[in-house]
Amino acid sequence: MPYVRETAGKGGHADFIRNPDVQDFLANCDYLREPSDDEAKELASRFMRAPMGKPPQLPRYVVASDASKSDAPINDKLPSTQVGFLKVSHVLVDMLRYADLIDPINRFVDPFKVAEMHRSASPVTFTMPGSNIRYRGINNVRDGFRRALFDQLSLDRSESQTGQSLAHILVALNGNNLSLPACPCCGSRPGPTFDRVMLLRHCEACDAKVYVTDFLRLHEGISDFGDNSSAMTRMMNAVEHVMLAGFILHVFDTQPQALSDIAFILDGPLAIFGEPAKLSQRLQALIFRVNERLTQLGLKPMLVLGLQKTGGVMNHALLLERFLPDGVLRIIDDDYRNQYITGGDSPTENFGNETYYGQDFLFKTERGRIFNFAIPYPFQDKTFGGGGKAFAVAKVELARYGALVERACDLIRHFEMDLYDNALVPVALAHRHASISLVPGGKVLDLLVRSGLASQKGL
Ligand SMILES: [Zn+2]
Repeated sequence: MPYVRETAGKGGHADFIRNPDVQDFLANCDYLREPSDDEAKELASRFMRAPMGKPPQLPRYVVASDASKSDAPINDKLPSTQVGFLKVSHVLVDMLRYADLIDPINRFVDPFKVAEMHRSASPVTFTMPGSNIRYRGINNVRDGFRRALFDQLSLDRSESQTGQSLAHILVALNGNNLSLPACPCCGSRPGPTFDRVMLLRHCEACDAKVYVTDFLRLHEGISDFGDNSSAMTRMMNAVEHVMLAGFILHVFDTQPQALSDIAFILDGPLAIFGEPAKLSQRLQALIFRVNERLTQLGLKPMLVLGLQKTGGVMNHALLLERFLPDGVLRIIDDDYRNQYITGGDSPTENFGNETYYGQDFLFKTERGRIFNFAIPYPFQDKTFGGGGKAFAVAKVELARYGALVERACDLIRHFEMDLYDNALVPVALAHRHASISLVPGGKVLDLLVRSGLASQKGL
């Protein structure tokens, strides 16, 4: 997705807003308004100078991911019979070789070399039953979807056939003991418990098959005849983060020190929405645990970066852009967000309490480009100081992020020089279906190992 800057609406939209009925209606509503020039200047004064490493603190490798999906009718004559198709792509960028991609004279990305990278691409795909599809003879779409999710996530997609799957990662993220609060079929409590061996169980009450992947609760958004595209969006979001977790876990188990030199870039916020939101807490805990370990080893923490090109924070930033000097940064605290971005009348005690695992920042580079990035909360969970408001305060204390903010800014500056498809190169490459598919324990790991990270073992 390019960095689209949609400010003016289409003609039709403006006409609709000018309609007197709509104007009357709006007169009775409170909504977020564009800040006045004076307000914008005041807001701009609350930004700080963006930190900069001298020299820039760059990782050795960057792993960027992106996901796409489509929900298509299986044929034109059956418009309400759909299958969902999901694709997650990863690209590994070796920072030492990155320079080869760029023409040294005009700094354009060499399209031939990019094409070469793409030829070796094999993104991971998931095919799911949509409305009106009965999977494996199961008599309703919802249970068919549950089964398909289990089948797709328990496939070992690694090149070396390690026997590990995304379903195993779900168990690992839950401390190797994943309990469902209730059976998804009959609702009896508690539901079955899974471990690394048992990924499928029968409910003690109703004897229905229950899958470890029911933990994601994606099926709750599925109906027999309705449009199931929002469930597919949730699944895309969840799978991308589970794959990130899988990659981190595998490198962590084999050579934890390598993680200190890898930056992960995700296209989107560090958050998981809807039914699988609980996963966000697991991601936060995992990243915290890894970084604690790296600190014990005397190494710098790994950088996980969410980059958002659209959404409320970006819309706000674009309104403010011309008032902001170059090279400034702001951490988006909840008060600021509630007042200027979301305009919530009764804000929650902690923004994104159920969904977010990373903190948003606004960054205007020295070259004048705006980025909304996120870094994982440096906490095991959200219970700090009793949680709620206390966590909301603690999560925006810059010192807690150590050098990660500076490293994030350095990484963005580095890639900003050579925007490709108007996006940072690794993100653009991932979006274009990636050069290398990342499967837990798979190719990217093999490549990392082969390219010499293994030799760092014991550092
Ligand atoms: Zn049951």
